[in-house]
Amino acid sequence: MNSSNGSSGSSGSLLERLHGVLGDLKLSEADALLEAHLQRASQGDRPYSDFLLDLLEAEARARQEARFAQSLKRSRLPAAKTLEQFDFTFQPSIDQTQIRELRTLRFVHEAGNVVFLGPPGVGKTHLAIALTVEAIRAGFSAQFITAHDLVSDLGKAARQGRLERRLRSFVSPRVLVVDEMGYLPLDEVGATLFFQLVTARYERGSILLTSNKSYGDWGSVFGDAVMATAVLDRLLHHSTTVNIRGDSYRMKERKKAGLLATPEQRENQIK
Ligand code: ADP
Ligand code: MG
Repeated sequence: MNSSNGSSGSSGSLLERLHGVLGDLKLSEADALLEAHLQRASQGDRPYSDFLLDLLEAEARARQEARFAQSLKRSRLPAAKTLEQFDFTFQPSIDQTQIRELRTLRFVHEAGNVVFLGPPGVGKTHLAIALTVEAIRAGFSAQFITAHDLVSDLGKAARQGRLERRLRSFVSPRVLVVDEMGYLPLDEVGATLFFQLVTARYERGSILLTSNKSYGDWGSVFGDAVMATAVLDRLLHHSTTVNIRGDSYRMKERKKAGLLATPEQRENQIK
């Protein structure tokens, strides 16, 4: 008697039963590739183990890709940027050895932080995103948020009496990107909330932070030198600073597009 409720019972052709059992086991990629792999196996004289390995490896790859895509979506990265896309020759102040070391993701394993400092357009956000993509690919959870959104989100939670829970949600991703710290100064509440976040993540998870303000200017960002020192003390204890001094890449692109050309040049271009 066939007691199986699933589609992997003993009725049907061998092929149907194979599809049935792959479906039951939720091996959907192997299920989709079965015929192609069977055909290939029947043509050559490779061992059975080759066929099985190929099929299962395809399944494993598909699952890993799906996990990566899902984790990437959850991270809310604002754009897809990679280290391969980054032109290091345009930004010679960046120490490539330092970036190679960061790329090993040792800092994520050790819950260390990375701070990207420099003027607008030099690639701070690009590099922070690219390293985060690497971390996600390696299986780490990540989240991206601007400093402004982070502080207003925590402020709202505090007003609604759920700050603890909200703080925990910002502690749980192994990598937290805090973008554009310092573009807007924090008020007293904002400074305290940011301090609480940095304290909560301290030695638990990495922060990748970008800022156009050098550390010496953080007193004015926090409106309070003591608070700035307390934040920097925790943030920088286990950290790498990537200091970028150079021209804006956006400016380079605009120059190339002729948007910064003289009025006559522009006119000639339009014609
Ligand atoms: P920042 O965060 O420092 O203001 P971004 O990282 O946003 O600058 O860079 C501005 C734009 O220029 C982005 O589209 C980024 O991908 C690009 N960009 C910046 N620097 C480079 C570079 N060295 N190579 C390639 N693209 C770059
Ligand atoms: Mg930026």
